Amino acid sequence: EKYVYDFTEGNKGMKGLLGGKGANLAEMTNLKLPVPPGFTITTEACKVYLDSGSEPGTLRREVSAHLAALEETMGKKLGQSDDPLLVSVRSGAKFSMPGMMDTVLNVGLSDDSVAGLAAQAGDERFAWDSYRRLIQMFGTTVLGVEGELFEDALDEAKRARGAVTDVDLDAADLKKLVTVFKKIVSREAGRDFPQDPREQMDLAVRSVFESWNTDRAKLYRRQERIPGDLGTAVNIVAMVFGNLGPDSGTGVAFTRDPASGHQGVYGDYLQNAQGEDVVAGIRNTVPLAQLETIDKASYDQLMQIMETLENHYLDLCDIEFTIERGKLWMLQTRVGKRTAGAAFRIATQLVDQGLIDEAEALRRVNGAQLAQLMFPRFDDDAKRELLGRGIAASPGAAVGKAVFDSYTAIKWSRSGEKVILVRRETNPDDLEGMIAAEGILTSRGGKTSHAAVVARGMGKTCVCGAEELEVDTKKRCLSVGSKVVEEGDVISIDGSTGKVYLGEVPVVPSPVVEYFEGRMHAGAEEADELVESVHRMMAYADRRRRLRVRANADNTEDALRARRFGAQGIGLCRTEHMFLGERREMVERLILADTDEEREQALGGLLPLQKADFVELFEAMDGLPVTVRLLDPPLHEFLPDITELSVRVALAEARKDPHENDLRLLQAVHKLHEQNPMLGLRGVRLGLVVPGLFGMQVRAIAEAAAQRKAAKGDPRAEVMIPLVGTVQELEIVRDEAERVIAEVEQATGVELKLALGTMIELPRAALTAAQIAEAAEFFSFGTNDLTQTVWGFSRDDVEASFFTAYLEKGIFGVSPFETIDRDGVGALVRNAAEAGRATRPGLKLGICGEHGGDPESVHFFHEVGLDYVSCSPFRIPVARLEAGRAAV
Ligand code: PEP
Ligand code: MG
Repeated sequence: EKYVYDFTEGNKGMKGLLGGKGANLAEMTNLKLPVPPGFTITTEACKVYLDSGSEPGTLRREVSAHLAALEETMGKKLGQSDDPLLVSVRSGAKFSMPGMMDTVLNVGLSDDSVAGLAAQAGDERFAWDSYRRLIQMFGTTVLGVEGELFEDALDEAKRARGAVTDVDLDAADLKKLVTVFKKIVSREAGRDFPQDPREQMDLAVRSVFESWNTDRAKLYRRQERIPGDLGTAVNIVAMVFGNLGPDSGTGVAFTRDPASGHQGVYGDYLQNAQGEDVVAGIRNTVPLAQLETIDKASYDQLMQIMETLENHYLDLCDIEFTIERGKLWMLQTRVGKRTAGAAFRIATQLVDQGLIDEAEALRRVNGAQLAQLMFPRFDDDAKRELLGRGIAASPGAAVGKAVFDSYTAIKWSRSGEKVILVRRETNPDDLEGMIAAEGILTSRGGKTSHAAVVARGMGKTCVCGAEELEVDTKKRCLSVGSKVVEEGDVISIDGSTGKVYLGEVPVVPSPVVEYFEGRMHAGAEEADELVESVHRMMAYADRRRRLRVRANADNTEDALRARRFGAQGIGLCRTEHMFLGERREMVERLILADTDEEREQALGGLLPLQKADFVELFEAMDGLPVTVRLLDPPLHEFLPDITELSVRVALAEARKDPHENDLRLLQAVHKLHEQNPMLGLRGVRLGLVVPGLFGMQVRAIAEAAAQRKAAKGDPRAEVMIPLVGTVQELEIVRDEAERVIAEVEQATGVELKLALGTMIELPRAALTAAQIAEAAEFFSFGTNDLTQTVWGFSRDDVEASFFTAYLEKGIFGVSPFETIDRDGVGALVRNAAEAGRATRPGLKLGICGEHGGDPESVHFFHEVGLDYVSCSPFRIPVARLEAGRAAV
């Protein structure tokens, strides 16, 4: 096995083996760009080291051969006394983990070679400064010496000299400092700083390997969902120096503006400095454009290289470079990170430039970015006062009065106030307050804290872990330094940046939503570049996708919005939402009915209301399919709370004034009370137990459809039976439904052709899909209940209880209620789809659980060959885009 690759041997496709940095250095080398020569030790070598505790047996020999070649190229040997070759030893994993792992510069310097470097550079101060940097970096990262000890010694040296910055120290000072540093190493590490350059290099390599598993690297990987077993590569690169005088320097550049996507000169430059000085903020950088006046030749060359890189990578690249005495060197490049808006703009710009095609453009964006663009945001031009910042946990822009407990959040919001719930951290007891609030702000916890997970689930703006904010829930205030926010003071939180502002920052609606709503048209004057590119990308996606996209909607407003957003029908109309409000009492009467007559009466009252709902809905969705699901939730949901009612009855009895109806109600509530209502009397079971209930609903649907047809409309209703576990249940309901439909057809003289189908949302339904398909004209996968029953997780409780622990332990990276669990729930979906179609070729298949609007899940549903996904109206554009991406 080959563990070491020269830069001339790799390419950008080898990120897994060479890491991102190594692969791109190789790519640039092959492009004949000025990359300092070097080689890469593979991630495989790292894995062997981490697994076995020692380097692969052949590694040393391979490194020696590559080092010899490097020395040959450079015409000097590592650490050679009179003219030392120095190298940097840099980490570089497949996925960028900025600053998380080790890097050591100036490897090869020693007591012996420092004079040689001074002579070669003609700069003694530079040589001693490089040496003290090596001992410091090597001491902390490789030998584990406390970094502060070096910092303190450096400060001490400056004090002794009356110096303000490092630059004020001269060669003699730095020479003395080197002696002090070496003493620190000997004392703290129990060994001397190694004088053998090869030993320095080998130890540095090993320490890079080990830095893969530091706590902070592990934490970062968990947060970013980077697998823990990839390992890092190590790059050994000939050193070039940006700190050799005013004709040297270091900088970063982007080939396009990562915020807007526009081409131009973007970046920063720092004269007479090394990379780490930029990070340390020792001196201020200048805009890259100024390099033109500082060093025109290097600037022109850099511009040309940037063009080469763009044309080669066909994308925005970011670059790190160094100029050593007027010679430009490329130290790194990669396809650069960008904002969501820039991702869309860049993709269409590249299509216009003829650099990529439409399919590739679709690969360059994703649904999460589109979702981000659909949140309202703070007006860029508005004045604002920053209070602090935390973690951007759930996007959006929220403004409201600060409240410090859920009770107040609920109370104030009921009286029409907008509030931001501010807590140190949230727990399940805060749920109602979170629902009532515009946004949630916490001072503790990360992206997977309770506040973050729950807020994201609710689509609510959330900033968490804003540690500089002192939250005092007892005194009901928060403070940052001298600034204090009391209960009722207005604050604004930005869930996309994590920033928290004092006072009200004006919010502007998302132009992308304005576009989807049809209030702004592509091509119109006010439509900006972003809207234009979203418009085009949606067209690319729509042209390619095979999945149709429907909406979960049960009222006209949602249905119409869904249509504007591009829905091709309604995949789930939850009829229980039509039984709330004042109609609840009618349902109550239905439940309490003792006699057939009472029951008929209650149903008779509900029928016209249901019918009117459907007439409206079918009209809104004229010409498009509307899947109406018969009543699903357990009946007790329509009855008063058992505790409240018991108290009321007990009090009335104490007053010797019991209310007859309350007593009956309480009896019914007791009778219907279930320990596990989600596994209880709901869905098709209700239809089988409450006579006439499903019949009434089917009649309402049929009559509404007939009425729309008579009015020359084009209703396309489908009737869906929930929570079926066996084909027998379905057959019984089906018989009744067919009878009712025939009656309505007879009575109205209209032929209806209503499709009858079922949800597949129980494991048994999925496992017996072949039988169920005998009685169903379509399946719609209810992945919410299916996830609940396959995992045995209560969908209403888990996210707020133990999921945080599961996420933190990495048992899953994302809730299975959010992204489909491919291996478990997904396997059932795949098999049921196949089995259903084997019984009934052409069986229509959809999904209407929450996963229908989740990007990753949409790809899965495409793969298993469903016909459509159905999701909430606001997620329709995301589903359309992802369905298109799944098809390219
Ligand atoms: C489901 O279970 O996935 C579903 C869509 O039905 P509901 O969420 O209404 O239970
Ligand atoms: Mg369900």
